[in-house]
Amino acid sequence: MGRPEKAKMRKLTGSPHVLFPVGWEGGRLRSFQEAILKEKVVADFPLAVCRKCNRNTIYPVCESCHEKTESLFFCETCGAIQNCPHEKKRYSEQSIPIKHFFGAAMKSLDEQSSPDLVKGVRGTSNKDHIPENLAKGILRAKHDLCVNKDGTVRYDMSELPLTHFTPSEIKTPVARLIELGYSTDIHGSPLVDEHQMLELRPQDVILPKSIESTDESSDSVLFRVAGFVDDLLSRFYGEEPFYQLGSKQDLVGHLVIAIAPHISAGIVGRIVGFSGTQGFFAHPLFHAAMRRDADGDEACVMLMLDALINFSRQYLPDSRGAKTMDSPLVLTSRLIPAEVDDMAHRLDVAWSYPLELYEGALEGKQPQEVKVALLGHRLNTPGQYEGVGFTHAVSSINIGVTCSSYKTLPSMEEKLKGQMLLAEKIRAVDAQDVARLVIEKHLLKDVRGNLRKFSTQQFRCINCNAKFRRPPLIGSCTKCGGKILFTISEGSIVKYLEPAISLAAKYAVSPYLQQVLDLTKKRVESVFGKEKEKQEGLGKWFG
Ligand SMILES: [Zn+2]
Ligand SMILES: [Zn+2]
Ligand SMILES: [Zn+2]
Repeated sequence: MGRPEKAKMRKLTGSPHVLFPVGWEGGRLRSFQEAILKEKVVADFPLAVCRKCNRNTIYPVCESCHEKTESLFFCETCGAIQNCPHEKKRYSEQSIPIKHFFGAAMKSLDEQSSPDLVKGVRGTSNKDHIPENLAKGILRAKHDLCVNKDGTVRYDMSELPLTHFTPSEIKTPVARLIELGYSTDIHGSPLVDEHQMLELRPQDVILPKSIESTDESSDSVLFRVAGFVDDLLSRFYGEEPFYQLGSKQDLVGHLVIAIAPHISAGIVGRIVGFSGTQGFFAHPLFHAAMRRDADGDEACVMLMLDALINFSRQYLPDSRGAKTMDSPLVLTSRLIPAEVDDMAHRLDVAWSYPLELYEGALEGKQPQEVKVALLGHRLNTPGQYEGVGFTHAVSSINIGVTCSSYKTLPSMEEKLKGQMLLAEKIRAVDAQDVARLVIEKHLLKDVRGNLRKFSTQQFRCINCNAKFRRPPLIGSCTKCGGKILFTISEGSIVKYLEPAISLAAKYAVSPYLQQVLDLTKKRVESVFGKEKEKQEGLGKWFG
């Protein structure tokens, strides 16, 4: 069971524009507009003082006079202090005048009207509770961009390997490709036509621009990131803008940092074009440099300057995993094939397979018994970067299903019915086994997981979203008086129970699994009581 392809901007919970706390004052939307109405934000902030303005602040540079501030410590005994013999920390819970900070950010950008909605985070989770400058949030909101936990804007995609392309496939004009160094095609002829075949350079990337996807394409998002970075440079830092893009096509030639989850090393890539798919097309060596074996894995890109200016490890949550995973702590600028995972060294680079390969296959020989040119044979020679061959051409990399129906079908019922329909049609697939896997790995897990969570659940205020381990005795929210709700509903538990039972019956899964479902149903009924008269077939997806 694979997973559907993906190409979308990364959004943290609540889609914040900036890593700046709005506390409970931000309301359900975690917005500054809401907090400003309450005139304050109570959250953990660093302590600093501006000697010129003689007032406390939270920034290393004063938001009013732009002088460097003096950072202070918080001591349980002495309060905010420069130094004392006690144990102290760099932050404390403070109530800050949010209107002042928002106004100062607007002023520093010389913005007259603020975006309608600027969203922050409930609280920062880094060690010293260092927030981003609020001005970045105003600009990101203006450009409709969401911030990742390290201060960058990420675009996530499914990885696909590619070694060759034609200009028409990636919609980049021939003249532009020649400027980027693609002067000749694979036969050595000068590039003049958009249908000539070119060999992809190992650090060039082709990003997704699918018209079928319901998510925004990478060129739209990165175009706005470029606008955001330019605004940030010119209006916040007082520097020259860098990108100054006239159109999305102008992204071609610019650098990105690509990184895969779970690792802390990014690699520099250059955008050469956009495909009509939702895939992140790059050279097999490039995927290997991201420590992935590609084909279905997920990686992301950020625009180079966004990462250089806005990334900081200080924003990262103070947990071991968050500090080392998925953040570009190390950057590879030049890809050295001998240094990447050796799986990519076993890439076939021949233009055709010898007859011995087919004869060997007939005799059941091991693959290594037949000699085929591999990338690994060419390490540390010019051939490690170019001259890779392929055996079968395709008419276009954009042809085929570019958006799986798994993503467009609205309900889980339709997705599952579609999957079972396919399983029945494809002779190589055992439909009964698919049914078993879906029940075991998805439906049953969901039902049991939610049933367990029901008994340990938290309670939530409908108004301010405050969470409670136990419902307050007063019967309403102790913070705002709002109504208290369950966070796990009965519906979320029984949702997949009848579908699982009907699926099990239709595909006659093992008696063991049927009994497991039966017992689960009994356990659910023991919690919520037995369903009274129920309309026949309701909740059953199959049968
Ligand atoms: Zn000042
Ligand atoms: Zn002290
Ligand atoms: Zn409340």
